[in-house]
Amino acid sequence: MAIKEKCLFLCVKITITLYCPDCQSTKIKKNGKKTYGKQNYLCKTCFRQFIGDHALSYKGCHSRLTQKILKMLVRGIGIRDVADIETVSENKVLSVLVNSNYIITPKQQHYDSLEVDEFWTYVGNKKNKVWLIYAYHRATGEIVGYVWGKRNYKTAKKLRDNLKSKGINYDVIYTDNWDSFIAVFQSDNHIIGKENTKGIEGNNCRLRHRIRRAYRKTCCFSKKLFNHFKAFDLAFFYINYGFI
Ligand SMILES: [Zn+2]
Repeated sequence: MAIKEKCLFLCVKITITLYCPDCQSTKIKKNGKKTYGKQNYLCKTCFRQFIGDHALSYKGCHSRLTQKILKMLVRGIGIRDVADIETVSENKVLSVLVNSNYIITPKQQHYDSLEVDEFWTYVGNKKNKVWLIYAYHRATGEIVGYVWGKRNYKTAKKLRDNLKSKGINYDVIYTDNWDSFIAVFQSDNHIIGKENTKGIEGNNCRLRHRIRRAYRKTCCFSKKLFNHFKAFDLAFFYINYGFI
């Protein structure tokens, strides 16, 4: 729906397209006034009632804000910076991240080769190490699977189990010479050597660049760990599919 607003002072007509905050539909109709005088609208697709973005006194309810915040977070902008740019609270930005739900699924069943590496992260302070172990397909730049845990055999095995449970096959698997990888992939065609894991190491750089400021040091531990996982889920989805 396009609405026309008249400015009393400048006599300029502005046309604004209204989107439903829930389903982004433009099939909108007027639906009376709110008790405090603002025009109310109704989405004809999902029946959500809302006030137009132009009339909001708090920007946190803006219909396209969620997508914008997610895109900023996944491009490496920190929580506080996003809050400042969008003039919303830090809690609003965090709630967008925490309530996001992005899960990647493998694009293929069979891969000619996969590179696997471990990736060191921390939550809150450097004592709280959380290890990411993931599989990467260099030719397509796809993150094929990932698991979280300690830097040990168990976590490395969790990744192989994760790939197998999704029915993924690969001709060859490349890793560095870490003992746990040697043990876990011994029954596969496993090739060890840094020269074969350049693809995933380049991707590690990309992750450091993209996710570096997604967490604040003042949250409690469990919350932060959850936010931590959410930030990576979001980044992996964005890397694989290119959109949010
Ligand atoms: Zn709607």
